[in-house]
Amino acid sequence: MNGISDGVAVVTGAAGGIGRAAAERFAEEGARVVAADVDGDGIEETIDEIESAGGEATAVETDVTDEGSVAALIEAAEESYGVPDMAFNNAGIEGDHAPLAEQSIEDWDRTIAVNQTGVWLCLKEELAAMADDGGGRIVNTASIAGLAAAGPGPYVASKHGVIGLTRVAAAQYGPEGVRVNAVCPGVINTEMVARSAEEMGEQMQAFIDAKPLGRMGQPEEVASAVVWLCSDDASFVTGHPLVIDGGYMA
Ligand code: NAD
Repeated sequence: MNGISDGVAVVTGAAGGIGRAAAERFAEEGARVVAADVDGDGIEETIDEIESAGGEATAVETDVTDEGSVAALIEAAEESYGVPDMAFNNAGIEGDHAPLAEQSIEDWDRTIAVNQTGVWLCLKEELAAMADDGGGRIVNTASIAGLAAAGPGPYVASKHGVIGLTRVAAAQYGPEGVRVNAVCPGVINTEMVARSAEEMGEQMQAFIDAKPLGRMGQPEEVASAVVWLCSDDASFVTGHPLVIDGGYMA
């Protein structure tokens, strides 16, 4: 895809699900990929998949809630391949499914730390590096829960926060040549949804059936939108929360 080939793409949450699918798709399109996750074994598997398909990638174990760890990720990317041209800030957790009044402070703090503070810490490093380097493209993973009450309270709050951060980053760094967008997936077939289905039981199936397309999405269907947003084909798109939900929000 135009503008992806020979670029450097950092992907967080790359040990599985949507992050792994995006890392693989970036590599297929000719980008060199830096795969980051707290799950060290998982990112090694992602690298193996990319390399066995003829792509180029490196793994950096990273905790997105830790400022030093995120700074070390961007440094490692620069050492391996140069300043990142693209970043997909995608690491996330679903948190506890309890009703709002029954949520614990520990779960609230953890969900906000990973989903919202984690995206901000990544943006901080990426925006500074890209602005110095003449520009770049960033995609953050929000959710339909960033636009509506489609999930547990802390998760919904964190994903609304991701859309807010995306808009501010796009507004402040557009003049520096950095485009920043978000993807808002609906129900996508990953480990996260398998875990949530255990908690939600029949409610999850009702959620899936309610969508016009009547099925779960696949991680690759989100990955293709992420790579498009990073490509020159989306050169006038910034600050946009792109819904990929089989029509649920319709
Ligand atoms: P997943 O659980 O397969 O992937 C999430 C990844 O994030 C895991 O590999 C996990 O190890 C990693 N991670 C968790 N905490 C981390 C941390 N502190 N630092 C670094 N990595 C960390 O789930 P997924 O469905 O692929 O989720 C990816 C993103 O998509 C998440 O942000 C999630 O909220 C979002 N999302 C998923 C769906 C869905 O239906 N699956 C829908 C909307 C949004």
